This record gives sequence, C-alpha cells and structure tokens, in this order.
Amino acid sequence: MRPPWRGVVEEYRALLGVEDDLPIVSLLEGNTPLLFAPRLSERVGAEVHLKIEGANPTGSFKDRGMTLAVSKALGRGAEAVVCASTGNTSASAAAYAGRAGLTCAVLIPAGHIALGKLAQALVHGARVVQVRANFDAALALVRRLGEEHAVAVVNSINPDRIAGQATAAFEIVDALGDAPDFHFVPVGNAGNVTAYWKGYLKYKEVGRASRLPAMVGFQAAGADPIVRGQPVAEPETIATAIRIGNPASWAGAKAAASESGGAIEAVTDEEILAAYCFLAREESVFCEAASAASVAGLLKRGVPAGSKVVCVLTGHGLKDPDLAMGQVTVPEALEPELDAVARAIGL
Ligand SMILES: *Cc1c(COP(=O)(O)O)cnc(C)c1O
Repeated sequence: MRPPWRGVVEEYRALLGVEDDLPIVSLLEGNTPLLFAPRLSERVGAEVHLKIEGANPTGSFKDRGMTLAVSKALGRGAEAVVCASTGNTSASAAAYAGRAGLTCAVLIPAGHIALGKLAQALVHGARVVQVRANFDAALALVRRLGEEHAVAVVNSINPDRIAGQATAAFEIVDALGDAPDFHFVPVGNAGNVTAYWKGYLKYKEVGRASRLPAMVGFQAAGADPIVRGQPVAEPETIATAIRIGNPASWAGAKAAASESGGAIEAVTDEEILAAYCFLAREESVFCEAASAASVAGLLKRGVPAGSKVVCVLTGHGLKDPDLAMGQVTVPEALEPELDAVARAIGL
C-alpha cells in the first residue's frame, strides 16, 4: 500500500530546498487529479490531460505556494500575513494562516471577486479589506504594508509561493512519466506560469524528466498586458481571477515562453466561456472561468496531431456560482404532479 500523501512540501522537501527542521503548515494540498479528457482530445486531435487544481483544499492552486509561504513566515516568527487578491489567494491565505494561528489580512478589489472566495476569506476569519481599486492597486498597497509594518506578504512576489507552486509540474511528470509536449496555463499575475516552468526545469535538472514542454500562457483579451507589451490601466474580463493589468511576474512569464519555445497569447471572454461550458458539459469538469482560459487557448491555437498536452484548470467552478447561473436556464417550479414532471423531463 502507498503511504498517505503528506502535502506538497513534505513530498518534495529535498527538491524545494526546505530545511529539515522547518515545521510545515499543511492542509494536505497537492496530489490533484491529472484527468484524461477524451472529448477535448478528439476535438483537437491530441492527447489532452487536465490538471484539476480545483481539487486543492481551498479550491485552487494557490494552496501549493501558501503552505510554504505561511510555514516560512511562521518559522521566521511572523505574527501576521497580508495579501492582495482577486479572491483565491485570500481564500488560501485565510485558511493556512488560520491553521498556523497567524492573523491574516486580505485586500480585495471591491465588487470584483467571486462570492465563494469572499465567503472563504470571511469564514476562515481573515480581516477582509475591500478597496475601491483594482488588483494592481491593492498589491501596491500590500507591498508598502510589508515594508512599513511587521507583516509577511504572501502574494506571489514572495518567492516561497512560486517555489511551492512548482510542485504541480513535478506531479504532472510523475503521472505522465515525462514532461508533455505542450503545457497550457491561464496567466494573471503570472506567478503560476513562472512556477511551472521552474518546476519542469528542476525535474529535468535532477533527471526525473528527459525533456521540457512548450509553455503557452493565456491572458484574457481585456487584461492582456504581456501580449500588448505594456500595462493595462483598466483591465476588464469576466474571468476575475486573471483581471490583472500589471503582472508581478511579467519577466518570469516572458522567460518561460521564450526559453521553452512557447508563447503568451490572449483569448476573449467569449472563447473563455465557450471552453468553460465545454469542460462542464463534455468533460464533467466544473472549473472557474479564468481556469478555462487554458482550454480556450488550446481550442483557438491547436497543436500538432498526436501531441501530448496538459491544460491547467486552476480553480473550482463552485467559487463563482453567479457566473455559472448566467450560462444556463433555471427551470420554473412545478406542482408535484406526475404528468407535469414527466413532460418537463421530456418523457
Ligand atoms: C491566481 C489564479 C490565476 C492566475 O494565476 P497567476 O499566478 O496570477 O498567473 C488563474 N486562475 C485562478 C483560478 C487563480 O486563482
């Protein structure tokens, strides 16, 4: 029998260079499914696998980096952590800080985070500050809080976040036996694409992978600074998790794309929603809108026939029920009569 999963830091401690005696704050994140997608594979003529990051403890990949960032903060004697967030970072920070017994403060752009994420930050007991500004402005405030107050910043400008997130690349290679040909991933603040590339490089360096994938990142067309080559002052997209106009890891994303022979491209909100619905209907995977940007990119761009592809689905669809309900028709209530019910079902 396989020993039980211990969370990403304990599983990959040596590769992450984490000291043996650092106590780890974990909710047993990671070990997420790499799910073969038969209908998507058929549609694009390739072998496509979905990395289901919504299966992490707080419902997004942010947990992979948060376990390490909060453990290190605690190890350094921090009493409080702070982050700016489009939602998932705050949900994760709130949960891990709570577990560690640390105070957590989160700055979120008022009116632009999904309901589920706001609920998570609040139920886990974070001090939630809604600011009338976008993510980029909130992050600028958090940087200053980190400089002027005794708080640890747990945004992905914290290198521990990126290091922890690299474990998803390790898991993909462990599952497939080697790196895929193409790795498709949504890009917001660009920490994740940076982390995956570091992870693949590390696994190649230590001989656990024989090759490297082309890294292809996707921004939303209304929030695509890397594609445009300049910051977007007023980023807009329905995919709120990637509604970011000036990514902190811009250079990391550029390096991942150019060193790997990949690219950073844009997909429209319509393309994102089409992929979101396709994944739910055809592959039975309910992900966030932002997550569907990877699959929207695959459907738009295509890959050479027979390629092995991984698309990262970064967060869980239940985070944003409002968006989901906007894509479907809600049936009206009926009296409990057999004929009426049978008719409604189409029998
Ligand atoms: C944070 C997040 C992203 C963007 O990741 P970056 O590292 O900021 O590029 C995409 N999707 C979801 C669901 C997220 O929570």
